[in-house]
Amino acid sequence: MMEFKGKTALVTGAAGGIGASIVERLRSAGARVAVADRDVGGIEAEAHLAGDLMDAAYSDALPQMAAVALGGLDIVINNAGVITRGPVTDTSDADWDMSLGVNVEAPFRICRAAIPIMARSGGGAIVNTASCWGLRPGPNHAIYCMTKAAIASLTQCMGMDHAHQGIRINAVCPNEVNTPMLRTGFARRGFDPDSAVAELGKTVPLGRIAEPEDIADVVLFLASDAARYICGALIEVNGGKPVS
Ligand code: NAD
Repeated sequence: MMEFKGKTALVTGAAGGIGASIVERLRSAGARVAVADRDVGGIEAEAHLAGDLMDAAYSDALPQMAAVALGGLDIVINNAGVITRGPVTDTSDADWDMSLGVNVEAPFRICRAAIPIMARSGGGAIVNTASCWGLRPGPNHAIYCMTKAAIASLTQCMGMDHAHQGIRINAVCPNEVNTPMLRTGFARRGFDPDSAVAELGKTVPLGRIAEPEDIADVVLFLASDAARYICGALIEVNGGKPVS
């Protein structure tokens, strides 16, 4: 659908539902891709950069490691994320640290390191993964919603601040997506994931929740030259079901 021949890309959360689809589509379109996740064994890619995004030194180093491994860095996709449930009164210190660490601090560190690398070679594109819940929070996920609002705001700020360097920074904001993140949440609460996904689909005007490819295609669009005039945007991908 979009041409990425000669482009180099770093994708975090590459082993997850949406991440795997982004990697597969970028490579099919000609990009050379460095994959980052805790376990990247078995993922087809040009470079494998396993690590834990809770490790600040790893997040700081990822863009340079990707640039060295691929011979440049044109695109960064900050896709990794974690979700915790509950109101603040049920939130442990560990949940707080992990949510902020993976959803906000790691993308901050990766952007901070990637921007100068991209600027030196004339620019690039960064796509962060926020959420519809970062725009309008839903119930019982206080810390998750806050982290997604934070990455949405950071994206708008960076989009303004680094456009003059030829770097476009945008975010995709999915609603419910049929990935391990959603399915394991259902399973933990005692629901059959297939039936729960089908039931949830009935609440979406398009008649189904998103598949990873529905989100990956929008990420690729934002990373592509077709989005050359889009900067600091938060693109909602929700099948017609905005969180109200
Ligand atoms: P997923 O759980 O399938 O994938 C997330 C990936 O992030 C996993 O492979 C995981 O290993 C990786 N990750 C988590 N913590 C990490 C750490 N400390 N170090 C390295 N890697 C780590 O989830 P997904 O649904 O594909 O989510 C991708 C993104 O989309 C996330 O940012 C998520 O918040 C966002 N999102 C998902 C939905 C949904 O309904 N699935 C909705 C809105 C936004």
